[in-house]
Amino acid sequence: MIQKKFHKELIRWYLKNKRELPWRETTDPYPIWLSEIILQQTRVQQGMPYYFAFLTQFPSVFDLANASEKDVLSLWQGLGYYSRARNLHKTAQQIVTEFNGVFPDSYVGLLTLKGVGPYTAAAIASFAYKEKVSVVDGNVYRVLTRVFGIYEDITLNTTKKQIAELAQSLIPTKDPDIYNQAIMEFGAMHCTPADPNCENCPFSGICVAYSAGDQKILPLKAKAKAKQNRFFNYFIIRNGDVVLMKERGANDIWQGLYEFWLHETERIVSLDELLLDQIRLTEKHLRAEYGPYKHILSHQILHASFYAFDVPKIIFNAIKKQYSMQEINISEITQTPKPVLITKCLRAHKF
Ligand code: SF4
Repeated sequence: MIQKKFHKELIRWYLKNKRELPWRETTDPYPIWLSEIILQQTRVQQGMPYYFAFLTQFPSVFDLANASEKDVLSLWQGLGYYSRARNLHKTAQQIVTEFNGVFPDSYVGLLTLKGVGPYTAAAIASFAYKEKVSVVDGNVYRVLTRVFGIYEDITLNTTKKQIAELAQSLIPTKDPDIYNQAIMEFGAMHCTPADPNCENCPFSGICVAYSAGDQKILPLKAKAKAKQNRFFNYFIIRNGDVVLMKERGANDIWQGLYEFWLHETERIVSLDELLLDQIRLTEKHLRAEYGPYKHILSHQILHASFYAFDVPKIIFNAIKKQYSMQEINISEITQTPKPVLITKCLRAHKF
């Protein structure tokens, strides 16, 4: 019976409190899929402009598939986790070449797409086709572990399976899409990680975490590993209106993005130390220093310092050749896809 009450109260709460979001107004799998990929690890307010920008520049899956990777990455700039953009592009190409541009119309069919995992397949299958398949994201983990009192480590496969089965047992046959939207919205807006609104909650009478005072410890997660510090020193090598940049290679989280000449060190080092290894550059070429900038990723903290050098053509060409770099005109840097920490530096300083 608790299941029935849970479902009824959840839908009632949702219809009263839901946000109006554009991807909830459609059953077309293309914009639904776009929104799901953009919103992974991204807040709604931050993701919304990207959602509209992608639909404007690539109105159909054919437009996205036919775009260059550089154009896709360029539009993605600022969202981070660039592997999402690369997978988005590859999946669009797969949908066009293998499915004539038509999305598979079932959960199982959607899972055959390369960049689509169980969460995204469930979201598209239920929102576009009303298939009775439950979505399980971080919000759903939080709500279910709290309401039903699941005190197991959610990083364990056994716990993930337990929660997936519970979620599937709760989803109704009628309007499964609304139920899925409702539970995710409830986790995002009401049963939040740090400040759940228990006093005004429709589940306060049945919620195990609330009655035990355990809201803040659920869901249980094994302690995350400490983040690794990395120290990047970028040399901006410039001659006239052009600078040198290099594209990051395959199997790299920044694959396809462009960066200045990178010198990674194990600790913070001075420019004097950095220049000890250089036969061509000296302090007399230095025009400016910027940073350090800090950028936090899921497993790493990046510290980036930037040194801008104006060098004669002969040195510029020698560095370009030796390190296989490309010339980029200053006026094209904004459009060139690059990591966020480089964008941060470029925004703060005029070159
Ligand atoms: S009572 Fe508190 S912890 Fe339980 S579902 Fe409601 S908001 Fe979440």
